[in-house]
Amino acid sequence: MGVDASLYLKTSRKYSEEELKDLNFRFKEASGFGDNDFPITKQDYQRDGEDYYEVYSFSRYYGEGYERGHWPEIYMAIKWLQNNFEGATIYYGGDTYDHAEDFETPEFTEEREKELLEHWYKNGGIPYRMHSLKEVSVNCSVHEKPMSQAMWGGGKIGLVCLACGRKKITEDGGKTSKELDKNENF
Ligand SMILES: [Zn+2]
Repeated sequence: MGVDASLYLKTSRKYSEEELKDLNFRFKEASGFGDNDFPITKQDYQRDGEDYYEVYSFSRYYGEGYERGHWPEIYMAIKWLQNNFEGATIYYGGDTYDHAEDFETPEFTEEREKELLEHWYKNGGIPYRMHSLKEVSVNCSVHEKPMSQAMWGGGKIGLVCLACGRKKITEDGGKTSKELDKNENF
């Protein structure tokens, strides 16, 4: 289970089917996202005469407290939508919102953009990916930074450096560890 990124946009401009096909083609070409042929789809509901479009989720969500998705990809998708659906309002959140009654995904305001960028500049994906560190602390031999716990079981713990992917394995809770070859698996 995980939270996917939810992306929507709202626009008063009416797009023809041809225009939407063209947008889908160019969005897919530019982003390389997903296995969906037409990731941008018009929704059945309307509010105040404005149309809503959903962008098929291609990534886990990224945000404060859930730094799991790859923010640069999500962010570039948002910027692409802003530049190609001129004047549209963009919404970004986790896929935990219910749209049956009200449209709940938060608006991607300039303030929100600044907050998310600042959070990413400072943290990247480290808070999420290091969440299991508490059990053992083993440093990467090159980066000299704690490695993330990637495997455990049978008294062994496998660790991986988030920057370079080097792997180590410990059988004594991190007191000693052995580095694996790059192509060797736990
Ligand atoms: Zn490293």
